[in-house]
Formats: sequence, C-alpha cells, structure tokens
Amino acid sequence: MQTSPPWMVSLHGGHNSHACDHASDPLEAIVEAAVARGYRVFGVTEHAPRCEPERLFQEEHALGWDVATLERLFAEHVARLDHLREVWADRITLLKGMEIETVPVGCYAEVMLELKVRHGIQYLVGSAHFVDGYIIDYTREEYEKAAEALGGSERLAVRYYQTVAEMVEALKPEVIGHYDLPRKWATDEDSCATPAIRRAALETLETIRDHASILDVNTGGYRRGFGRPYPAPWIVREAHRMGIPFCFGDDSHAVGQVGAGIEEARQYLLSLGVEEISLFTPSASGLERQTAPLTG
Ligand SMILES: [Zn+2]
Ligand SMILES: [Zn+2]
Repeated sequence: MQTSPPWMVSLHGGHNSHACDHASDPLEAIVEAAVARGYRVFGVTEHAPRCEPERLFQEEHALGWDVATLERLFAEHVARLDHLREVWADRITLLKGMEIETVPVGCYAEVMLELKVRHGIQYLVGSAHFVDGYIIDYTREEYEKAAEALGGSERLAVRYYQTVAEMVEALKPEVIGHYDLPRKWATDEDSCATPAIRRAALETLETIRDHASILDVNTGGYRRGFGRPYPAPWIVREAHRMGIPFCFGDDSHAVGQVGAGIEEARQYLLSLGVEEISLFTPSASGLERQTAPLTG
C-alpha cells in the first residue's frame, strides 16, 4: 500500500455479484484485487436498490427478484463490506459508498437519503441511468427505444444533462458518475457534442460546481472502446476551467476490471492540464476530502 503512487485511488466501483446481477465476482475477490493492484483508497459504491418495481431489469425479474429482494441484498452487501473494511484495514482504505440511479421522482430522493443514513453510507455517486423513466445505458435496444420516445438522440442527451442537474439538486452527491454517459450507445463523439448538447452539459456543470461535487473520470470508457474514459476532453477542459475537481473510478464489475485504465486516465488528465485528483479519507467527523498530485 505504501509503495503505490498517491493517485492510486478509485471512488466509483467495486460492484459485486451479491447485490448486483450484472457483476461477476464476489466482494471478497474484488477487494483482494484492489489490494493487489495497489489501491490506497477504494470506494465500493454498489448500485442503490431501486424502489420502483418498473425499474427492475428483465434479468432480475427472471431471477425472481423484486424490490424487497434488492433491498435485502443491499443490506447484506453492506454487512459484508463492513466486515471487509475491518479485515483489510491495515492494507487498504475501503470506503462505503452507494451509486444512485436516477432523478428522483416520487419518493426516490427520500428513500435514497434514508438508505444512506440507515446503512452509514459515507458518500453518494450520483448517476443518471434513467431519463424520463427510460434506461439509457443498459442495451443498445433500450437506448434506441429511449431516443425514439424522447425525440431523438440529441434530445435524449439534452434531457439527460438536465436530469443530472435535477439529481444533483435533490441528492447532492459527492461524486458525479460517468458524466457523459449518453456516449455509451451513441454512434460517434460528434453526435454527443452538438451545440445543444454542449449547452446542456455546460449548464449542468455549473450546478455541479455550485454543489461542490467531484467528476468521476471513469475508466469504463476504455472498455467501451472510446479510447478515453468518461467524460470527453471538452468536458474535462471546461470543468477544470470552472474549478470542478476530478476523481478516478474504475467502475469495476469484475476482478479483471479492478484498477484497469487508471494509469491511462492519469495520462489523459495530465494531457488536458489537470494535475491533481481528489480522494476521501475517513476522519472522526466523516470523510475528509483531499487531493493527490498526478505527477507523483
Ligand atoms: Zn453496474
Ligand atoms: Zn453507473
């Protein structure tokens, strides 16, 4: 742990097969991999249990899961994580986070904040996987369905950024997950950066700055074949100009993804003029925000 560089930190990842149907390894193996990869701080941010039955995925229905199952599995996940945090305390700082899913409609915000308190969650990764009720990052088919319903991929992206702003206002997440997520199923970079989309993305960056949230530089983008992490260079430049900080997230859903792409993401940030990365360390009063140099 001492020999790894100070920027070897991830604040978004550690999804595991106990509570997440699309992750492939148990938390114990993920944590062992995080130690082996030399992480100093590793944030485990499992997906929050969805509280609306219509938000469950087909695969979850097929497993016979319902809203109550998701909540029970999440509670069991937290208990496992609490145990591992103690077991590995002298090797790695494991943080207890939670990735929230969407903009609050109905009781979503209250349920999420109640879960945070009940489970002693240290911080939130705010992601918008759903836009106006449509899942946008699951399959290409679902994405296309969403784009059609919302009036095209440009409208979808604009609405997505508006949704992120609403989510930030309602839940004040410490970290914003994979900010330009609409890139995932889009045909190319240009179609995700039209003038209207840029306007919406930059407007939401102002909300993010006003709430002092950190942008997740998410190495899942390399796995998708974009040749870059999320978010795109034009977003990184603008966010940096606005004083918004960045953190790394490997968004790992399997042992092999733990630590993957962090070195490339470091080079990516340095090439865009960003020279430090944010991280959290536990303190008596909760979490303390720190920065580490990317040149170290
Ligand atoms: Zn996931
Ligand atoms: Zn996500």
